[in-house]
Amino acid sequence: MTSLESLSPAEFCAFSKTNGISRAWFVWDRDSQTVQTSHPVLEPLAQYLGTQAPDFDRHEGIFLQTAPETGVLQGAFIHRTCRGQAAGGARFWRYDTLAGYLRDGLRLAKGMTQKNALAGIWWGGGKGVLAHGTGRDTPEMRKRIYEEYGEFVTSLRGCYVTAEDVGTNVSDMAAIFSRTRFTTCIPESLGGSGNPSVPTALGVVRGMEAALAHLEMGSLAGKSVSVMGLGNVGEPLIGYLRQSGVKRISGSDIEAGRIEKVKSLYPDLDLDLRLVPPGDTSLFSAPADILSPCAVGAVLNRESIPAISAKVVCGAANNQLDDPEHDDSLLAARGILYLPDFLVNRMGIVTCADESFGYVEKDPAIERHLSHDWENGVYQVALRVLDDSRRTGSTPHRIARQLADEKATEPHPLWGHRGQLIINSLRSRGWEKGN
Ligand code: NAD
Repeated sequence: MTSLESLSPAEFCAFSKTNGISRAWFVWDRDSQTVQTSHPVLEPLAQYLGTQAPDFDRHEGIFLQTAPETGVLQGAFIHRTCRGQAAGGARFWRYDTLAGYLRDGLRLAKGMTQKNALAGIWWGGGKGVLAHGTGRDTPEMRKRIYEEYGEFVTSLRGCYVTAEDVGTNVSDMAAIFSRTRFTTCIPESLGGSGNPSVPTALGVVRGMEAALAHLEMGSLAGKSVSVMGLGNVGEPLIGYLRQSGVKRISGSDIEAGRIEKVKSLYPDLDLDLRLVPPGDTSLFSAPADILSPCAVGAVLNRESIPAISAKVVCGAANNQLDDPEHDDSLLAARGILYLPDFLVNRMGIVTCADESFGYVEKDPAIERHLSHDWENGVYQVALRVLDDSRRTGSTPHRIARQLADEKATEPHPLWGHRGQLIINSLRSRGWEKGN
C-alpha cells in the first residue's frame, strides 16, 4: 500500500473522507515519547511524524481538517507554547505530497518559535497551512475557504493564533477575523495593525547594516544588493535600500507584474530586474555585496550555495536553509556571512504581537526593535550573534538558534504552559468529532 505521506494532499482528503474523518490530530505524548493520533487508521502517519518526518521536533500538536463546505485541507502546526499561545501566519500554497505539506508546516512552526523567542515576544510558535488543489479551491470560494479556516482556528480554543503569510492577503484576513478572535494582522479598518511587510523590510535593512558593521565594510551607501522576490517585503526593501544610498540593485521575480511595479516605483534607480521561472536561483551569481532572499524558503542549499557571489546573505524569506543542520556550514566554508532569517524578519510578528493592547503612534514597543541601540533590537542582537560566532567558530545560525531555544522554553510569566493544557483538553473533549 502507498504510504499516507506520499499521497497528494487531495488524495489524503479523499482517503480521510472514505474513512469518515473530517478532523484529525497528532499530538506529542511526553510520557510515551511518541506521536499519538485521533484515529487508528492514521497511526502510520503518526509513526512517520514521530520517527522519520524531516523537521519534526516534538511539536506539541498538529490539527488537520478537511473544511466542511469547501473541502480544502487546512492545518494548524503547533510547535511550542511555553512562552504563550502558538503564533504564526497562514500559508496557502501548493504541495505535491502530504509529506511536503507536513514538512512546510513543521518547519515554519518551529521557525516561529525561534523568531518569537529571540524577539522576546510572549508567544510560542505555530503556523497555519492551507493546501491549494484540494476541495473547491476556486476564486469564487476563496472567501468561504478563509471563513472556514477562521472557524477551524476558533475550534482550537486559543492554543494557536493565526496571521498573514505567503498566499494570504488582507481581505483573506478580514474573512478569518469574521470567524475567530484568535487572529492578528487584521486590516486597520477593523482595528488591526494591517500589512506588516514594510517594517519587516526595515528589520532586514538593520540586519544588513549589522553584517556590514561586523565585517568593517562601512554603510550600505555605494553597495550592491540582489533581492530575490519583489513582493510585499522585497518592494519596500528596495525603497529603503535606495534611501540608504545603495548603488546597484539586482532583483528577480516569477511574476512580470511585480517587476514592472518596482520599475515604475523607482525610475531613478539603476535596477537590473529579471523575470525567472519558479525555483530559479540564477540571481545568486550576479555580482553583489549582499544577497537578500525575500521569496520562498529552502533557497540556500547544496546546489545554490556554491553559486553565491555575495559576502552577506540577509533576507526576509522564512526557513531559507534547506538543511538547517548543514547548509549554514556550507555558507561559512565559503566565507559567506549568513544572518538567520528568524533574527532579521521578526518585524512582521512584532508589529502584530501587541495588537490586542491598543495602538500608539510610532509605538515605542515596536520602534525599539528597529533602533540601533536597544539591546534586544534586530541590529544589536545581530551584532552579538556575529561576534559570538567569530569568537566561538560556530555559525551565526547555530548561535542564534541556541539563544532562541533557551528562551523558547521559558514559561509565560502569567499563564505558564497553558497551550499544552488547551491541547490536552482538545484531545479529551473529542475535538476530532466536532466537539
Ligand atoms: P509575497 O508573496 O508578497 O512576495 C514573494 C515574491 O516572491 C512574489 O512576488 C513571488 O512572485 C516571488 N517569487 C516566488 N518564487 C520566486 C523565485 N524563485 N524567484 C524570484 N521570485 C520569486 O511575500 P512577502 O510577504 O513579500 O514575503 C516574502 C518572504 O518573507 C516569505 O518567505 C515570507 O514568509 C517571509 N516573511 C514575510 C513577512 C512579512 O511581513 N510579509 C514577515 C516575515 C517573513
